[in-house]
Amino acid sequence: MRRCFRPLLRGHDRLWLGEDLIEVSKRYGLAGELKIYADPFPPSKRSYPLVLEEAISKLKEHELSPYLEELTHVASKVDAKLYLVGGALRDILIGGCVYRELDLLLEGDLERFLESAKKCKFSLKELTPFLTLKLVKDGKVFDIALGRKEIYERAGALPKVFPAKLYEDLQRRDFTINAMALGLSEGIKGLLFDPFYGLDDIKRGILRLIKPYAFIEDPTRIIRGIRLKVRFSLNFEDRTLDLMKKAIDKGALLWVGWVRIWKELEELFKEDEYLNGIVLMEDLGCWQSIGVKLSKLDMEVLDRLKGEKFLSQENRKEFLLFTIFGSEAHKHPRDWGLRFQLPKRLREDLSLAPLWRELKSLSFENRYRKFLRASQNLVKFWSICLEEDLFSLWKAYREARPILSQEEMENIASLKGKEYGRIKIEVLRLQLEEGLRSKDDILERLRKESV
Ligand code: ATP
Ligand code: MG
Repeated sequence: MRRCFRPLLRGHDRLWLGEDLIEVSKRYGLAGELKIYADPFPPSKRSYPLVLEEAISKLKEHELSPYLEELTHVASKVDAKLYLVGGALRDILIGGCVYRELDLLLEGDLERFLESAKKCKFSLKELTPFLTLKLVKDGKVFDIALGRKEIYERAGALPKVFPAKLYEDLQRRDFTINAMALGLSEGIKGLLFDPFYGLDDIKRGILRLIKPYAFIEDPTRIIRGIRLKVRFSLNFEDRTLDLMKKAIDKGALLWVGWVRIWKELEELFKEDEYLNGIVLMEDLGCWQSIGVKLSKLDMEVLDRLKGEKFLSQENRKEFLLFTIFGSEAHKHPRDWGLRFQLPKRLREDLSLAPLWRELKSLSFENRYRKFLRASQNLVKFWSICLEEDLFSLWKAYREARPILSQEEMENIASLKGKEYGRIKIEVLRLQLEEGLRSKDDILERLRKESV
């Protein structure tokens, strides 16, 4: 048997091991040897099994580890297999980074797995048409996906999904570093399934697409790629970069619904190095391709935002939205707010956001009206843009009440042949801007002025 395997392995720096091959290799005690052979570098330089052991022991440190063991057991009872995949595995292999959620993949019969899970007190919380499910036990949630392949009927559309084997599932993913699987079930525990050489790319610091048409199929991968690049300081492989530029130039980002674009941007904005991502999107022509122009002034505001150390993540996200999309949203308020399906308050703020540039030169009436429409959040943004605290002014505008009664103002209005509203604004201006405090002073000024 060993002799059968050797020619297969020779000349390959990494060999894809199908499930059957794994079974056979296990039966003949070759799993260890295969692990070594699967390494692209001589074992003396890189200790492949050690990496994997390390991965498993890192996983053991995870608070959900006991549940993971249980789930693996649940799967094995119905001859299904469980793998750690996607971002969680990537993060463990990159090392030094905290992995957030555990991405798990199930290979086997879903219904039987669910029955078995139920017996172990895991309850099904969600099952999507995309073959992903959420199991809950003791208040802990587990995201599990059934191995699946995808068919895109048109570029940028959401795919149709079908159950599939592990290899096909890994093949549908975006970048090589996201397309690995670590066996968790007995028999495959600790084995790395890495058909696209993701581990090598991690070591070389490279972000590489699995398939050349991936950006066309799903253009949100452009923003995902930029996000991963800045998060882990990776370099795009030349061909991947070329494909990305081509897709952007073709206007691929416009093929995807705006809501999906916004979702990806929200994720990018969460990154510590989000500014590098925004600049890279500018350099690659992403913003221009979706009809957004970043001016020099916008770039200055982005720098200023980066300098604000105590912004909450929510504030940061909204302020980046204001900076990048504000000018366009101001010109077309309805279109932009609705495109991203933002809540009403945010839509209003977005269309008012770029006004900080002219706030100082506006007439009192105009400024007053704008301040009344602005939320506290927007005022915070304006303050950062202008490097001046506008909060007390905003508060004063909102709380100000005319010192004259309505009747007094109506009288003046009719005497002067003006609208009541004009007189009221002027009274407020005299109070707020000129600091007049007594009725008499204000009445005298109004008499003299040609409002
Ligand atoms: P993060 O650490 O930010 O969660 P992630 O890579 O885990 O990064 P997820 O959105 O959680 O991102 O996706 C989990 C996995 O699903 C990815 O690692 C990748 O393999 C796959 N994936 C997600 N989105 C896509 C996509 N648009 N195209 C192809 N594969 C995708
Ligand atoms: Mg993830």
